[in-house]
Amino acid sequence: MAIRTGLQYRERLRDGRSIYVNGERVKDVTTYPAFTRTVQTIASLYDLQHEARNLPLLTYPSPKTGQPAGLSFLRVESVEDVMRLMRAEEFRAEATFGLMGRMPDFMNALVTDAAEAAPNFGRREPRFGENVVRYYEECREQDLCLTHTLIDPQIDRSKGPGEQVDPEATLHFVRESDRGIVVRGARMLSTLAPFADEIWVGPFYPRKPGEERYALCFAIPIDTEGLKFICREPYDAGRSAFDRPVSSRFDEEDALAVFDDVLVPWERVFINGDIEASNSYLMYGARHALLQGAIRGIVKLRFMTGLACQVAEAIGRASAPHVQAQLGELVAKVELGNGLLQAAAHEVAAAAGKGMSLRILASTVWVFIPEAQVRAAELIRQLSGSGLILTPSEKDFRNPEISRYLEKYLQGTNLTAQERVRLFKLAWDMLGEQFGSRQLHYEWFYAGDPMFTRSRFYYSPAVNTYKAMVDRLLDR
Ligand SMILES: Cc1cc2nc3c(=O)[nH]c(=O)nc-3n(C[C@H](O)[C@H](O)[C@H](O)COP(=O)(O)OP(=O)(O)OC[C@H]3O[C@@H](n4cnc5c(N)ncnc54)[C@H](O)[C@@H]3O)c2cc1C
Repeated sequence: MAIRTGLQYRERLRDGRSIYVNGERVKDVTTYPAFTRTVQTIASLYDLQHEARNLPLLTYPSPKTGQPAGLSFLRVESVEDVMRLMRAEEFRAEATFGLMGRMPDFMNALVTDAAEAAPNFGRREPRFGENVVRYYEECREQDLCLTHTLIDPQIDRSKGPGEQVDPEATLHFVRESDRGIVVRGARMLSTLAPFADEIWVGPFYPRKPGEERYALCFAIPIDTEGLKFICREPYDAGRSAFDRPVSSRFDEEDALAVFDDVLVPWERVFINGDIEASNSYLMYGARHALLQGAIRGIVKLRFMTGLACQVAEAIGRASAPHVQAQLGELVAKVELGNGLLQAAAHEVAAAAGKGMSLRILASTVWVFIPEAQVRAAELIRQLSGSGLILTPSEKDFRNPEISRYLEKYLQGTNLTAQERVRLFKLAWDMLGEQFGSRQLHYEWFYAGDPMFTRSRFYYSPAVNTYKAMVDRLLDR
């Protein structure tokens, strides 16, 4: 059976990986206090696919063995395929309320896209194209969990990697042997790194002639010798699920990936110095990964909309017309998002085998979702007033000296004080805590720099037809 259980997922994490947090090397990520609840969350996603009622929804027969494989590896050919994939992705995104942008499904989709782009990887050396297809199959058959890293260290963005004060800082090719290539330097960020089995190092920034040694794409296990991850401070500080409803479960972590003379075996090399392959990779469209991102983003928007409605209702403000207009705006955005997903399904199906550009999906992921998420967070903040701040801890409710005051003064509209405080704690965790601040930042930069991704629309051929309308009216 290709699909793994949560237990199998956990067991594989117990390797010799080098993960550093708060100045120490983590011995076992599955038992490290700040990680253990996220491991549990991801393990539960693996377990979900084994439940008999979920099997037809979340799996499909592996083209290699006929055994159930994760549906997020499905290469879609038709609208029916896309609809099936969407149902599965929606179900899995809902399991985490859309709060884990890099749940395993994202990279499952991205390696599926990579397999479709095999001719690009193999344009100079056909074996690299074959490697990427084999790697996709390996990920599917072993149900692997991947992190990825695309971005060079943010040292001086006005210069290329070779012009930096230290040209060695950016991940680069060092030498090759009959075993593979040796790489050195760093990449950022690598979300999910402590919880993944493998890292995908992909192309992203356009490389110029002369920057061949920075044009790389490969994938290796997290415990590869010389590969180290230095994590940001974890957001799960051990608080209860009452006090931190989301940061206690969904902190997917972000890390700097350091490659200290790491050997990448030839069978795992997809690009090595081929600038053309590196630069044209993104043009292949990444239809599965964009679709997964769009579904996850819309699911989260539904959750944020529900949260906004509950916050307003908890304090009796939902009856005010201007509050209803604000809530209605969010609901309308969800409807718009739902419609975009339906339209995207047709676009994704039509793009099968053609590598055509995905305008609906790109505008959904690059423009609509970041803006809608920021707006939802802003409205929840505005609607909540002081309730967002006055959220005593679970322990206060257990203290008989004060709990009766809390029960009396912090109750809400049709809510007990504990219910109301829990709700506002959720809102605070989503907006005010480190977890929530990162969520917003993440949505903004999810698909790259949003200014850059938007500016690409200006070069769309459709712009000429819009300008032609003005000419027509002005009789030009
Ligand atoms: C929480 C989080 C998780 C992430 N996870 C991952 C991950 O798992 N894997 C991964 O590969 N990446 C990840 N990223 C990185 C993400 O892809 C990048 O943040 C994104 O591509 C933007 O690049 P940057 O951070 O280097 O910002 P920059 O490109 O340095 O942008 C910073 C600012 O400079 C502006 N700017 C851009 N170009 C110009 C210009 N020419 N002139 C003036 N200003 C300009 C931008 O608009 C922006 O406001 C993550 C990022 C975040 C925030």
